[in-house]
Amino acid sequence: MYLLNGRAMSSDLSQWVRTRARELGFSKVGIARAEPLGIETERLEWWLHNRFHAYMKWMEEKKEARKNPQYLLPSVKSIVCVALNYYTEPQESAHINNRVKISRYAWGADYHGVVKKKLRTLLTEIQTRVPECQGRICVDSAPIMEKVWAQRSGIGWIGKNTLVLTREYGSWVFLGILLLSVELEYDVPMSNYCGTCRRCLEACPTQALVNEYVLDASRCIAYFTIEFQGEIPRELATQFTPWVYGCDICQEVCPWNKKFAKSTTEPSFLPNHTLINLSFCDIYSWTEEDYRKCCNKSPIKRIGYKQFIRNVTAIGQLKNKNT
Ligand code: SF4
Ligand code: SF4
Repeated sequence: MYLLNGRAMSSDLSQWVRTRARELGFSKVGIARAEPLGIETERLEWWLHNRFHAYMKWMEEKKEARKNPQYLLPSVKSIVCVALNYYTEPQESAHINNRVKISRYAWGADYHGVVKKKLRTLLTEIQTRVPECQGRICVDSAPIMEKVWAQRSGIGWIGKNTLVLTREYGSWVFLGILLLSVELEYDVPMSNYCGTCRRCLEACPTQALVNEYVLDASRCIAYFTIEFQGEIPRELATQFTPWVYGCDICQEVCPWNKKFAKSTTEPSFLPNHTLINLSFCDIYSWTEEDYRKCCNKSPIKRIGYKQFIRNVTAIGQLKNKNT
């Protein structure tokens, strides 16, 4: 039934891809036509021109690839976008003083491996059905505008906090992309449902959301605690506390997240209780081995012991001085 380039194949295969992606555990799946981006690339140029990417030089260097998915797979025709809900309820011990805060996405297993494994299975099974089909998996590993493709494939819209929001799970989703060289049936792009709300802009403690849909990374806690490798500027760090890895404030205040967050069904995202119940004092006494034991499975391991301790020390010391 899967005759390459046939209309019947396109319809059947599209339906099969959607069903199989859900069976593999993805919360949402959408498909967009692969084509060079338009207005989105103008916005990217403007954002880079204003240096809102701070020291993330790789964003400049790979910008041409970001504009056109053919850079990643010359034969690409379709972009399958998946979303995987990772929300879990906080399970914090009430008696802990001086607790550090860690972004929810890092409470469980590193999503890169989890999402990639599922997409690899999906791609292998597609290629079993259509051996001519070429594919490429991207989970934060390639220069592609995931959020734009999530919107174009009907997964969600890009909110004023610059994150993808879904109507079913809010923004607590990981995104994954599968580029395919076959034509499929395409979904309708998602509309924007932020309306007149501005809660994320108002709640950001460092005013990193400089305008609706515009993030200045050089003011963002997530950027400084995850991407940035130098010394955290003191005047900004005073506003970071108690966030030592990432920041969820602009997600926590979002009405879509308050109303639609649901617990994940992916067991590997269940939280590491030790990790989410750490105090500043616990971490001050950590050796590198302690760090490895606690953060081995979490995406926190990606920044390394020294950078994590830099965050905790910089933010914790200022916190203690100010209390
Ligand atoms: S992650 Fe935190 S610092 Fe960054 S924009 Fe959101 S609220 Fe602001
Ligand atoms: S807080 Fe409001 S403006 Fe911000 S992303 Fe959520 S709905 Fe949109």
